[in-house]
Amino acid sequence: MRRRIIAGNWKMNKTVSETRDFVNGLKPLAADAECEVVLCVPFTDVAIAAETAKGTNIHVGAQNVAWAESGAFTGEISASMLKDVGAEFVIIGHSERRAMFGDTDATVNKRLKTALGAGLKPIVCIGETLDEREGGKTEEVLARQVKGFAEGLTKEDMEKVVVAYEPVWAIGTGKTATTEVAVETVKFVRSVLAELFGEVANGVRIQYGGSMNGNNATALMASGDIDGGLIGGASLKPEEFIKVIKA
Ligand code: PEP
Repeated sequence: MRRRIIAGNWKMNKTVSETRDFVNGLKPLAADAECEVVLCVPFTDVAIAAETAKGTNIHVGAQNVAWAESGAFTGEISASMLKDVGAEFVIIGHSERRAMFGDTDATVNKRLKTALGAGLKPIVCIGETLDEREGGKTEEVLARQVKGFAEGLTKEDMEKVVVAYEPVWAIGTGKTATTEVAVETVKFVRSVLAELFGEVANGVRIQYGGSMNGNNATALMASGDIDGGLIGGASLKPEEFIKVIKA
């Protein structure tokens, strides 16, 4: 049985005091959540989010991690640094990192291995652009991304990975994939995982991400094939985020 996981991706939003207020606001609302609740916050907010969420069912994560453990990597943050300030999860390979900051399937794979080695729980993002979908390339792109991040992973590694299927055209655009498209694509992703990891694929949690909110989450999750969501815009206010968690 795959436990659903709703993760907020705050992107580059919120100061330390805003983070403290948000977590204090979410705590009572999320106290009886049935799914796993994660907040992936900017690096500077990880410590305060983890401290404020201590003893609750809210888990904290970051939005990227270096592939190296230490050294001459100006601007990067290592897995041990993240763990040290209380991060449990980390998003890897978000489409914004791929499009604007040079992440590739190869760097996503390196970051993923480092995160796993350090005991961080990775949420690995994959997804096709609008051009790729319209050009009939969705499956080719997703298969390449899955095989890319999974290169060299063992079955035991894969059991610890959460995959976020995020069609790039649905992120921050207000355009959500229809339930049919999301379910069909998530099933395809699971079939690629099954080719690589056999039975283990059935236990891997695959989220949907892309303009998910309190209004569309129930429909997206109804079939049981989608194991939660990675939520951007709708994760920035406790009263909005809780609607997705409850849905
Ligand atoms: C995201 O950033 O991963 C995301 C899904 O954003 P939004 O929900 O705003 O589309």
